[in-house]
Amino acid sequence: MSVLPILTLGDPRLRLKGQPVDSFGKYLHELIDDLTDTMRHAPGVGLAAPQLGEAVNVAVVEVGGRLLELVNPRIVRADGDDRDLEGCLSIPGFFAYVTRAEKVWVVAQDRRGKKYKIAGSGLLGRAMQHELDHLDGKLFIDYLTDLETELIPVGRLEEQGMDEEEREALARRG
Ligand code: ZN
Repeated sequence: MSVLPILTLGDPRLRLKGQPVDSFGKYLHELIDDLTDTMRHAPGVGLAAPQLGEAVNVAVVEVGGRLLELVNPRIVRADGDDRDLEGCLSIPGFFAYVTRAEKVWVVAQDRRGKKYKIAGSGLLGRAMQHELDHLDGKLFIDYLTDLETELIPVGRLEEQGMDEEEREALARRG
């Protein structure tokens, strides 16, 4: 288990699509442990394998003390709209308002290959959508039409005095 460097914007490996996982052995278990350690160290609420340079369909999400190991995850249902501040560990120092589904249902496998289904709304739902995007080579800035005005530097939030929601957003990166 190790804390590894997180790739940042501009690294082409962030744009690779994750390959399906069909082997549930040592490589996968070490990758999940490294993702978990690196996410907690950052700290963040999620981390996907492409952010560590591994183009495989594996991510972790931890919200409210519950760690989810997402292997080969896919969204099977989505409901509603939710617009909120969001950040990414691969785009340090910036946030933006991103509209996502309010609630999603995800089917995934755990590290042993066992299938499970999880529903998430609020931060959990947002974190799962953010991490699944990473597995598709997609970043939250791809939802913005004008980076210049929509991307908010953390410094600007701090200068203007952050409200509760913005302070919380600092812990909402994945
Ligand atoms: Zn991210």
